[in-house]
Amino acid sequence: MSQPEVGTSRRLVILGKQGAGKGTQAERLAHHYHVPRISTGDIFRAAVKEGTEAGQRAKVFMDAGDLVPDKVVVAVVAERLDEPDADGFVLDGFPRNLAQAEALDSMLVPDGVDLVIELQVPTVMVLQRLAGRRVCVDCGTNYSTPNPEETGDWICERCGGKVILREDDTTTAISRRLDLYEKETEPLLGWYMAKDKLAPVDGVGPPDTVTARVLRAIDGRLGLPA
Ligand code: AMP
Repeated sequence: MSQPEVGTSRRLVILGKQGAGKGTQAERLAHHYHVPRISTGDIFRAAVKEGTEAGQRAKVFMDAGDLVPDKVVVAVVAERLDEPDADGFVLDGFPRNLAQAEALDSMLVPDGVDLVIELQVPTVMVLQRLAGRRVCVDCGTNYSTPNPEETGDWICERCGGKVILREDDTTTAISRRLDLYEKETEPLLGWYMAKDKLAPVDGVGPPDTVTARVLRAIDGRLGLPA
């Protein structure tokens, strides 16, 4: 596996259904390329936790599995990409529709993003994964249980925080989110493909295997980091 030097500025987007493993792979890519992982979901969850006004407004949409209005999300991302550490990045959860993708392009004129990874996982499999997904309320680490009925209190191995079922991982909210993915986000695949920026990757298998596939796809398309 290639080892980039510090400062390799990959501008990457990771797309895939909820539960496809975007968060895990985005985290690993960010580590590998020494760039920040920017997750709009994490930014909103942090705002909800802090009880900011923006957080309170976003919570209503999030709990229902709906999309937060584009204007709000685009402003949050533009502000984050303006920070000095965001020359390269891995975007996770953004863009989610065409308006957001166009807004992202205009934040990154003239070249736009370098590559968009699509993690491909069948819907039956993501439904299973989401039912067993648990998350740490403090640091956001994801866990999974083979027994989705289990509701006992868990403690996060990383930070000692409480590990819970996400409020938007209820059956109703999940099907709403998958529906929205199909209607709003999937059209982006053709849009990025037409720009020759799409790299579809098989997301089924152990996380290490998927990471190796993703890195091969990126290095194969963009060349090895200098
Ligand atoms: P995620 O963790 O990416 O599944 O995001 C959790 C929730 O945050 C989503 O269900 C939306 O309500 C909201 N959200 C995150 N990213 C976006 C986005 N790009 N556009 C609109 N809403 C978003």
